[in-house]
Amino acid sequence: MRNWKTLVSESFRELDELLEFCEIEPSQTGIENSPEFLLRVTRYFASLIEKGNAQDPLLLQVLPDVQELQIIDGYSKDAVGDHLCMPVPGLIHKYQGRVLLTLTGACAIHCRYCFRRHFPYNESDTDYHANGQVMRYLSEHRDVSEVILSGGDPLMLSDQKLANLIGSLNQIPHIRVLRIHSRLLSVLPERINQSFLEILQQFNGQIVFVTHINHPNEISGPNQAVFNLLSQQGYRLFNQSVLLRRVNDNSQILEELSNKLFASRIVPYYLHRLDKVQGAAHFDVSRKESCRIYKQLRERLPGYLLPAMVEEIPGQSSKTPVLCD
Ligand SMILES: *Cc1c(COP(=O)(O)O)cnc(C)c1O
Ligand code: SF4
Repeated sequence: MRNWKTLVSESFRELDELLEFCEIEPSQTGIENSPEFLLRVTRYFASLIEKGNAQDPLLLQVLPDVQELQIIDGYSKDAVGDHLCMPVPGLIHKYQGRVLLTLTGACAIHCRYCFRRHFPYNESDTDYHANGQVMRYLSEHRDVSEVILSGGDPLMLSDQKLANLIGSLNQIPHIRVLRIHSRLLSVLPERINQSFLEILQQFNGQIVFVTHINHPNEISGPNQAVFNLLSQQGYRLFNQSVLLRRVNDNSQILEELSNKLFASRIVPYYLHRLDKVQGAAHFDVSRKESCRIYKQLRERLPGYLLPAMVEEIPGQSSKTPVLCD
């Protein structure tokens, strides 16, 4: 198997190359490369885009759009209030019992709707060594039992860095669960190689994976093989999606997604309403429409395949369920 870092470096970063690969004429799209959030797509993800379809739901997630440049009331740069909840750099402690580490700003794919697109990531990776501030905070907070690895994408970190992190976490007995939120699991399945699997086995507690898949077309043979492998090794897998206009704002597509996740041993976890981040307003689905879609979804799916529809409201002590009557 090819080295995953080579595959990252071979990702599409040029619009014309991506469009050529997808057999789409630039004139079919309303695009403009945004200088602050450049295009980036893995070749695997691009291979799942339907050729010649400028409205493809996977393409729309990664294609820069002039609408991103609009400044719209109510859409801010820190839509979820993360800046206010960082007791030490790289560690967000908003909810009881669990903290989130933003380990790196890097991702293998740039999702246009991303709420972290304006986030002031450290240029270098977070300091997580045993004597660092993050580990000190975790040791001192005995009520924290779960550490969530996030980013950017935590699996952009080298195996060595992940191994060091797990070694440090093993020193803190009250950390019982390590949760890895990653889009690489689905967009760069080669990342889950033998060396990574061996590192996971070093962790003393339980490991949970959360994939980020928005549309059933994002699942195919290669990433399904990875989900099966992780599941066979005893790790639990959950998925979160974002409800996105023109991508998955349709109960039939979401139903198909839940069923395909289930067939891949992944439990649907959250369906997020879009965070109101500047540059992403054109992906928003209104509250009324979200509820209409969700009600239909609830009728179509068994309860265990229905993700919870939630939104993130700054200052709240958990994700907030979207209440539909
Ligand atoms: C979403 C989030 C979590 C995890 O919330 P769960 O409901 O447990 O999935 C934890 N910390 C932060 C800062 C978050 O944004
Ligand atoms: S943090 Fe996640 S949603 Fe945002 S660009 Fe990276 S992979 Fe996409």
